[in-house]
Amino acid sequence: MAAMNNIRNIVILTGAGVSAESGIDTFRSEGGLWEQHRVEDVATPEAFARDPELVLRFYDMRREAIQTKQPNSAHEALARLDAEWPGELLIVTQNVDDLHERAGARRVLHMHGEHLLAWCTACDTRSPWTGTLIDRPPCPACGARALRPDVVWFGEVPYRMDEIMAAVAQADLFVSIGTSGAVYPAAGLVRMASESGAATLELNLERSQGTRWFDEARQGPASELVPAWVDELLST
Ligand SMILES: [Zn+2]
Repeated sequence: MAAMNNIRNIVILTGAGVSAESGIDTFRSEGGLWEQHRVEDVATPEAFARDPELVLRFYDMRREAIQTKQPNSAHEALARLDAEWPGELLIVTQNVDDLHERAGARRVLHMHGEHLLAWCTACDTRSPWTGTLIDRPPCPACGARALRPDVVWFGEVPYRMDEIMAAVAQADLFVSIGTSGAVYPAAGLVRMASESGAATLELNLERSQGTRWFDEARQGPASELVPAWVDELLST
């Protein structure tokens, strides 16, 4: 890769492939089903309006499940990079679990929200949440029974895009891990990074239609590729 020794600012985009090896599955796996539910039945604002019980129960299950999972060596390597990298670094994750944080990473931005937050649609407060929402508990801030999962549903706008794009524009290296480079937002971010002069690297289980947008692409499990890449980067 070009000019590895001139790298100071790094933006890393992570997706489902990073958490898959911790046992967290996603819609992107077979047939667009997620634990037997169709995307449009549980992960859209329309679904929540139509059948809030189903949606809340579904997310209660997901919230409970992620608390039983553990970070894998990809999360751990990224946490080590975060701790040791002297320049700017931002981990932008599409994942709504907290495995980056539990591995010890600090510079993490959740563009699709977080399972462990509840969002009050009455007062707009986000509260840490590990329990259930199906029983319509009151908002800790205002008392309204108007909490929903703080997860960006299909058809909703990802969080903090201005901040993400500003970081990408300043990046010397953009790395996409475990997410298809063909799909928004990865496809847009890699092109923006290239146009700003950043080197670009894709680490993914397999080649995707977006692979061609990257300067370099490596294929394999994140638990193997990511620690090897972090070792490489920290030893240059
Ligand atoms: Zn509230």
